[in-house]
Amino acid sequence: MKNIAITKDIQSQLTPDAVLKDLLDGNNRFVNGNSQATDNAALVNQTTGGQYPKAVVLSCIDSRVPVETVLDQAIGDIFVARVAGNFENVDILGSLEYSCNVAGSKLILVLGHESCGAVKAACDGVELGNITEMLSKIMPAVKKSAVEVDGEANSSNKAFVAKTVENNVLLTMERIRKNSQILAEMEDNGEIKIVGGVYSLHTGKVNML
Ligand SMILES: [Zn+2]
Repeated sequence: MKNIAITKDIQSQLTPDAVLKDLLDGNNRFVNGNSQATDNAALVNQTTGGQYPKAVVLSCIDSRVPVETVLDQAIGDIFVARVAGNFENVDILGSLEYSCNVAGSKLILVLGHESCGAVKAACDGVELGNITEMLSKIMPAVKKSAVEVDGEANSSNKAFVAKTVENNVLLTMERIRKNSQILAEMEDNGEIKIVGGVYSLHTGKVNML
């Protein structure tokens, strides 16, 4: 039964590698149908005065990838920043910097997922309202995949979509390092790690890149 929230002491003793293992262990519990029972009332009670999350996950808005559920995490465990296509912008970067530099999180996990609708729309060059500007953030990944994958460069090509999902995660990680001096320095100092993975809609498993 999960009934003890993370404290400042617990958080300060965690390493980035230990946090990554913890999240992947949680994903294994989810995949195997062994998700932890949780005493939410106890966790709510213990976290009213503050929070010391171990990680921040940057994920898509997709309803099939509820982050806390698929990583088997509870109240107080992780920050989650969500935007269709799980890319960074200045507001997301600020959120990641807050998570790690102010609130003490040890890991940034950029989490893409199989058959991402935002990635597929970017692959097809969809233009619609504010979605056009949003998809422009995913276009660098589309362009990279176009030279790496044979066949049609649109969403009808499953290999092309899958590669673009991966490239979008990898390029997002690169841009986080490039555009956040705070996070790049924390990673260089070993205080945090920036990692990427892709969630499979078929198996429920997070595969690290
Ligand atoms: Zn998505």
